[in-house]
Amino acid sequence: MISTPVPVHRVVIVGAGFGGLETAYRLAGAPVEVTMVDRRNHHLFQPLLYQVATASLATSEIAWPIRYLLRDRRDITTVFATVTGVDTAGRRVLFDDGDGLPYDTLVLATGARHAYFGHDEWEKFAPGLKTLEDATTLRRHILVAFERAEREDDPKLRAALMTFVIIGAGPTGVELAGTIAELAQHTLPGDFRRIDTRKARVVLIEAGPRVLAGFSDDLSAYAQHALERIGVEVVLQQAVTDCNADGVVYGNTRLAARTLIWAAGVRASPAAEWLAAPADRAGRIEVKPDLSVPGHPEIFAIGDTVTIAAGDGKPVPGIAPAAKQQGRHVAACIKAKLAGRSCEPFRYKHAGSLAQIGKRLAVIDFGKLKLRGAIAWWIWGIAHIYFLIGLRHRLSVALSWLWIYARDQRAARLITQGSSKVTR
Ligand SMILES: Cc1cc2nc3c(=O)[nH]c(=O)nc-3n(C[C@H](O)[C@H](O)[C@H](O)COP(=O)(O)OP(=O)(O)OC[C@H]3O[C@@H](n4cnc5c(N)ncnc54)[C@H](O)[C@@H]3O)c2cc1C
Repeated sequence: MISTPVPVHRVVIVGAGFGGLETAYRLAGAPVEVTMVDRRNHHLFQPLLYQVATASLATSEIAWPIRYLLRDRRDITTVFATVTGVDTAGRRVLFDDGDGLPYDTLVLATGARHAYFGHDEWEKFAPGLKTLEDATTLRRHILVAFERAEREDDPKLRAALMTFVIIGAGPTGVELAGTIAELAQHTLPGDFRRIDTRKARVVLIEAGPRVLAGFSDDLSAYAQHALERIGVEVVLQQAVTDCNADGVVYGNTRLAARTLIWAAGVRASPAAEWLAAPADRAGRIEVKPDLSVPGHPEIFAIGDTVTIAAGDGKPVPGIAPAAKQQGRHVAACIKAKLAGRSCEPFRYKHAGSLAQIGKRLAVIDFGKLKLRGAIAWWIWGIAHIYFLIGLRHRLSVALSWLWIYARDQRAARLITQGSSKVTR
């Protein structure tokens, strides 16, 4: 008698970010066929994106082709496609080109995008930082602003070209502000003849009462003091009311600036809309305790695109370790279900928060243990190098940082994409 082969359970993972990739890694050995779908061909280490935007690192130092990362896993197929919806009844993910993929279990790990709090028209004046393209566009914008200032005779326009405004003083805003200040203070001065780049203004605007609100009061006070010491102007308790081609408006102040950077808010990917799932105000799917989507035990959602409470009742933060822990949990759930067991609720373990402010300046909040200054900076650097994938990337980033540390020189100061004309 010829036996019909048992169909293999098909797992489709959408998004090869921190969450999706961890799910794929942890499904090794499970009786499943995995398809990884991403609209980009690379996995991106977002925590160091600001270093590409500020000419400290090259794009290839913080990103890896997804196919390369999964090359040894014969059970995983990589698909380069953009998902635009899910047919939950037919169990298919739908692509923007009309194609699609069937699934038995679906894992949505599609991350987040910028949120302009109802002012999407600000985006073209104050772009955010989420992708490699965002980072290289911003790098170009910052470097072109100095170039234009060098040959600008009008003092007002020169001042606007040399004013850099960062909106939002969370870790990304603080890291950007500190690094742009160091670029202007230490890296660029000797290279220009007509302008003194040390006179550049770096203004960090925050609507809340302190920088790094996720850290303890004393660490955030230290971070503010450290930023001010390296030349960043910190403006607190001021919500931005307009971003336009001339600059930014907050309170009664109209600040002329040619570079505005948005680091103030994120919104989840549209995954909740694809599923008509319950979501919070930021569009994050309100997943069940096991990270499945309500009404769909065969669909899991993880990372920045979901919201779930941690043990202390506060939402699990939108950070890489949380996405990875959720990826690990979902892989274990899929394996348990296939073995006829039930799935445990997800429990988040917070390891700590880190932020770099400048050279030899960082803060680390491990809960009971709080570190600041040079010691925190070294730990921050070692931790980030450790979390990069592969020896070559680790060595390359370590060398770039040691070079900046010793010589204040940033190797990635290349203006690419387009001509010498500034767009605004
Ligand atoms: C500038 C910046 C700095 C950060 N700094 C830190 C930090 O210092 N420490 C920290 O822990 N966290 C940091 N984070 C947050 C951290 O990067 C995120 O929490 C983490 O990436 C979330 O992982 P994820 O898997 O949910 O999503 P992501 O890692 O964002 O991955 C989502 C993936 O989904 C893909 N995708 C999205 N939509 C589609 C679609 N429609 N079709 C196909 N593919 C799609 C994307 O291309 C991407 O590969 C930072 C984030 C940013 C933007």
